[in-house]
Amino acid sequence: MTLSVLSSLFSDVSTIKGIGPKTAQWLRYLCGGSSVLDVLWHLPTNVIHRPFCEKKPLQNQPICIKAKIDEYLIPPVRRRPLKIICQTDFGRLDLIFFHYHQASLTDKFPIGTDVFLSGTIQVKDDFYEMVHPDFMALKKEDIPEFESVYPMSQGKNSIFFNRLVQKMWEKVPNLPEWLDEETLKESGYLPWRKSMFLAHNPRSLKDCSIESFARKRLIFDELLAHQLALKLIRRYHQKQKGISCEIKAKTQLNLPFKLTKAQQKVLDEIYQDLSASYPMNRLLQGDVGSGKTVVALLSALKVIDSGYQSAFMAPTDILARQHYEKISTLLDGVGIKVALLTAKEKGKKRKEILSDLAQGKIQLLIGTHALIEDNVVFKNLALAVVDEQHRFGVNQRLALRQKQKGCNLLVMSATPIPRSLAMTNYGDMDISVLDEKPMGRQPVTTRVMHLSKISQILEKLKQTETQVYWVCPLVKETEKSDLMASEKRFEELKSFGFNVGLVHGKMKGDEKENVMRDFKAGKIQILVSTTVIEVGVDVPNANLMIIEHAERFGLATLHQLRGRVGRGNQSAYCVLLHGRLGEKGKERLDILRQTDDGFVISNKDLQMRGAGEVLGVAQSGFQQYRLAQLPEHQDLLDRADIYAQKIMKTDPELEKNKNLRILLYLFERQKAIMTLKAG
Ligand code: ADP
Ligand code: MG
Repeated sequence: MTLSVLSSLFSDVSTIKGIGPKTAQWLRYLCGGSSVLDVLWHLPTNVIHRPFCEKKPLQNQPICIKAKIDEYLIPPVRRRPLKIICQTDFGRLDLIFFHYHQASLTDKFPIGTDVFLSGTIQVKDDFYEMVHPDFMALKKEDIPEFESVYPMSQGKNSIFFNRLVQKMWEKVPNLPEWLDEETLKESGYLPWRKSMFLAHNPRSLKDCSIESFARKRLIFDELLAHQLALKLIRRYHQKQKGISCEIKAKTQLNLPFKLTKAQQKVLDEIYQDLSASYPMNRLLQGDVGSGKTVVALLSALKVIDSGYQSAFMAPTDILARQHYEKISTLLDGVGIKVALLTAKEKGKKRKEILSDLAQGKIQLLIGTHALIEDNVVFKNLALAVVDEQHRFGVNQRLALRQKQKGCNLLVMSATPIPRSLAMTNYGDMDISVLDEKPMGRQPVTTRVMHLSKISQILEKLKQTETQVYWVCPLVKETEKSDLMASEKRFEELKSFGFNVGLVHGKMKGDEKENVMRDFKAGKIQILVSTTVIEVGVDVPNANLMIIEHAERFGLATLHQLRGRVGRGNQSAYCVLLHGRLGEKGKERLDILRQTDDGFVISNKDLQMRGAGEVLGVAQSGFQQYRLAQLPEHQDLLDRADIYAQKIMKTDPELEKNKNLRILLYLFERQKAIMTLKAG
């Protein structure tokens, strides 16, 4: 459903006279949709100016001139160029055509006709030449002085798109203003329709950039619609009834360490949410090794002490198992029943777990996405924890919480999310940050070396007992070759007499588990792996991380991998082995040498590679914009966010300014509007 003022914008372009189904289909491909609005969001990236030259023509740029046709030089054989000799006020001009339809030229422009031409002119000895004029017309008005240049596909030209936009223009309504006067005055923004018009009709390259007020307004609108939608949804959730915890028991844990200040602060925030009447919806961000697991455990205890169940979902089998083992040890003797559920728990055992869970005998269930399967039923789930969130899609994150109405959700992520992304992707969540690492952590010394140094490294390794992670890259991104690289390295290291283990994503759960257990127990010196060990794995005695073809990994991934070492109290090293490297590649790896701050690294990565690359397009949340680009438009995002906050304070139901609802519809944020109706 849309509002009636917007109906013409949402109508299909094929309803416009002269636009057929074929063109509509092409537009769907080019613009991601074939409504008038979809086409409108497709903005020009440049402009061609064709000034009319009455005297000496300008060179090296498109111009428009008047000429009289003198003579057709028709080639004797086909496929040779056709020449038209013309006379102008400044001398002879030859038009050259390589592709042409002779009759349509001679019919329309017989000898002696005055024509208007647009194109680029070259000076020859005593005459001028123009190859393939862009336009040739009888009337000057038929040649546009400015032509917007649109990104095109399938061999269609931009002129065609210019005409399309012109044709649809009558379908573009004046929309009532949703921005307040103060903002309009301050920013210099023009009304929406006018802004859209100017954006499609630039007069300079600058007009095609964020420098132009017309674009700024359109982008601001988009960011505002998004931030406002997030805030409305969040408000809606906060008004829902959540499970609130009242502590009935008090479990004492014997932690082998004191919580950091940051951990304590974050726990306070979580406890407050858990005892509140609304369901918690919180993102916990903390760099690798900042101690998120124990925060999750203590949060779960609070819920369990209040008589409820808790679930803890990890992205990989290895991680789920590790959490299970660690947490089981910590909970030893306190009388809380923990269980592990992955794809590996089958048959009778699985049945038993599911039945105990449904009866409430299991208070904490740890596992992989096996937890969200339909037949996993809790008696009274009050807290769902999702670890290493960036590995899960948004839907998986939500599926766990939906096991129980009003369930609290804690999402944990080690991928430091730059502010703009956090604002736009998690704007519906509260965010807690672990900005401090436990004391006594050894900084990891990072070296960047060429792959040819491997033999030297092997020599050194022979002389130590240090445990080593050895990570092999994705080759051509296929799992098969990925496997080959690690298997090859595994065999080779074995042949050198090292005590080697191998883990990769294609191994069965228990095989992996056995290798990991042996590595933890120190029975294996070198663990060769693919990136399966990227997240969360904790082996304090491993002090050396070797990464082959580091240039093929994202910086965030490298940082995560490096976070696997330096967990004990000995000095730790990370060696980034690289193949051929360009300037940029070198610069990238150097960042890891310079800093250990995941946030700095992730921001750099974002700058150098773009959000889609860094976080995976589907996850990045940036692709939800038609015009806005982040982090480039951060300042507009900040302004839009402040504006949205103001609205939420003064007019949270969008009753005073109903035009804001039009804005939300315009950017298809219907879900946010539904929350208004539901109250
Ligand atoms: P991450 O945030 O990467 O998930 P973990 O929760 O795995 O980090 O914690 C990393 C290591 O730090 C674990 O071995 C954990 O036991 C330890 N740890 C957690 N909190 C503290 C603390 N306050 N003091 C000392 N060590 C801690
Ligand atoms: Mg972790």
